[in-house]
Amino acid sequence: MIIAIDGPAGAGKSSVARAVAERLGARYLNSGAMYRAVALASIEDASRTPAELAAAIQIEVGRRVLLDGRDVTAAIRAPEVSAQASLIATDPDLRSALVSQQRELLATGDWVAEGRDIGTVVAPHADLKIFLTASEAERAKRRGEAVGARDRRDATRIHSPLQPAADARLLDSTSLTLDQVVEQIVNLAETGVAGR
Ligand code: C5P
Repeated sequence: MIIAIDGPAGAGKSSVARAVAERLGARYLNSGAMYRAVALASIEDASRTPAELAAAIQIEVGRRVLLDGRDVTAAIRAPEVSAQASLIATDPDLRSALVSQQRELLATGDWVAEGRDIGTVVAPHADLKIFLTASEAERAKRRGEAVGARDRRDATRIHSPLQPAADARLLDSTSLTLDQVVEQIVNLAETGVAGR
């Protein structure tokens, strides 16, 4: 079973996806961490293109994020890495390299995967697709940083822009607690998926 959770920054995707995965005994894939790891690598080595870097480096995204074995879990959360991730994520060559790696991971076992293009590109046959949103003010509050510029770039880029898949369920988390959002998705997974 694959559950895809896409949406803009600060909608709560990571916390929600991690909790849903735990409830369902599935694994959790944070695809944004992969873009962030390449972004960090490209800040550190500007001589290679993001796609070249993606081919050359080893990224592990589990409980900790490892870049060639180095723990970059905290480093990839810096605001300049967020901005750089969104910039390099417009590159179709980088996207196809990371999408291949993500599909390889999702090929075996049960997964809750979150990002911007999971339901549209990475796993179009996902059993359940959620497009998780919240008001821009609420998202900025949760993130502690302005998210508008990054969202607009993510939503308007030519390749794999952030957009709900045609068969995604829209879920607005603005006035919901984390538990309420998780509960709704777990219910959908248990009833909707089983009823297919
Ligand atoms: O999810 P997160 O905010 O960590 O992602 C960082 C950036 O990586 C996003 O702003 C977006 O530009 C890019 N990204 C993407 N596709 C994904 C996940 C993240 O383009 N599936």
